[in-house]
Amino acid sequence: MNVQAIPEPPDVPAFHLDDVHALQADLWQHAQRALGPVTHGYAIAPAYFAIDDAASAVRIGNNITISLDVHAARDWPSCVSILGHELVHALDGLTGHASWLEEGVGCLFGIGQCVAMFGHAPMDLCSGAYRSAAKLVASIPNQFDVVKALRAQDIRMCGVTPAQLLAAAPGIDVRTAQILCARFEPKVVGVSRVRDCGE
Ligand SMILES: [Zn+2]
Repeated sequence: MNVQAIPEPPDVPAFHLDDVHALQADLWQHAQRALGPVTHGYAIAPAYFAIDDAASAVRIGNNITISLDVHAARDWPSCVSILGHELVHALDGLTGHASWLEEGVGCLFGIGQCVAMFGHAPMDLCSGAYRSAAKLVASIPNQFDVVKALRAQDIRMCGVTPAQLLAAAPGIDVRTAQILCARFEPKVVGVSRVRDCGE
């Protein structure tokens, strides 16, 4: 009898959800080590794949859900980068509209974790306004320590004011601080056009 072997599922995240969830637990610990401990009590559900949508972290009531996109489904470096990014949003509890600072930190953290694990990162995942945000955050000396210090004062990335950011990161200029604290707009690429956020 000619029994055909059943092929193993391909080694891509979409077919290995248990590994994705183990990765989520690791990245969650790394995020808190880099950016300070979580201070909210919201539950974070195991991530799932929503192939037709962009990746996102959404809070409804006390529950945060992270959905991963087709890029994350297809290869492990992208999965680490995207999951790391969304966990940065989850870290602050999604209590307000993301700032340029929050999106930039998300990009840098995700890419950093990806490089640490694989030695390279799919840079095309961080494009347009996200790339601008990442560059701005990368221009802050010791940017993760700055965010960690702010969060230790209960100042979230979505709610930080330019004055608070300048106090925590004296090396940056006022205009950069204003842009980083403004509401992130994914369609704005030239960040010099970002409106000031008031304070
Ligand atoms: Zn984001």
